[in-house]
Amino acid sequence: MKLTVENYYSNEANRHYLSKSIFTDFERCEAAALAKLNGDWEPQRDEKALLVGNYLHSYFESPEAHQAFLDEDKGDGTNADKMIAKTGKNKGKLKADFQVANAMIDRLKADEAFNQLYIPGQKEVIVTGEIHGVPWMGKIDSLDLENEFFYDIKTSRDLHEGAWVKTQEGRNIKVPFVQAFSYDLQMAVYRELIRQTFGVTCQPLIFAVSKQTPCELMGITFDGDDEQALLDTALERIEEKQTHIKAVVDSKEEPVGCGKCEYCRGKSTISNNLVGATQISLG
Ligand SMILES: [Zn+2]
Repeated sequence: MKLTVENYYSNEANRHYLSKSIFTDFERCEAAALAKLNGDWEPQRDEKALLVGNYLHSYFESPEAHQAFLDEDKGDGTNADKMIAKTGKNKGKLKADFQVANAMIDRLKADEAFNQLYIPGQKEVIVTGEIHGVPWMGKIDSLDLENEFFYDIKTSRDLHEGAWVKTQEGRNIKVPFVQAFSYDLQMAVYRELIRQTFGVTCQPLIFAVSKQTPCELMGITFDGDDEQALLDTALERIEEKQTHIKAVVDSKEEPVGCGKCEYCRGKSTISNNLVGATQISLG
């Protein structure tokens, strides 16, 4: 299957190729991820956060891409219209989240390193390849093959907030947002897919922006030994889990429900969720 701008986000592409979002969806809950992939279920999501991300990314992609984003209409009004507050203190003006997004854009626009590195790169480059024998796809925010770097813009509420995750041994540890959102795995995959597509090993650099006032700008590098180890560990995690995930996508193995997420909650009945009083899972 040949990937294009038109079919990149299609169900067909998602069935053929693994991607960071499909892989991590399946890691969180196989039952929910499969239902979403089959079009049987849509998660309740915060559409505004998605719009803010696309607003920011398209701005730095090109004026045409940004206009296309503003004009996009899936039958419930254009994105530009959705950004305007209909009630409250901002009535008739941009909603607060998009005022913050504009401040984030202004800060990046004025940043010297961002202008030197991110802006000249080739934008939204689709890459494919195989990771341990399974087809994967990715889309690079900004790629600079000449200087052997690729760049990704990430937004987060607070870059220092961190999140609790469970280790394989079952211990709860707090990790920075990069690991919490599997951006380390994404960078490891992209580095490998760029190498297979173009024959160049590029290093990742994340331009992170917080959604605070004023926002924090951070350049996150991966060239230290600990960071390179982080990328290697992410590829090992893929090798360990993807055979089963791919078999579930291909309907060769049954999905396992996590029993706690939005999808599983909606499917729970007293008889399929009968639990001993001391056996109720926590967190
Ligand atoms: Zn679940």
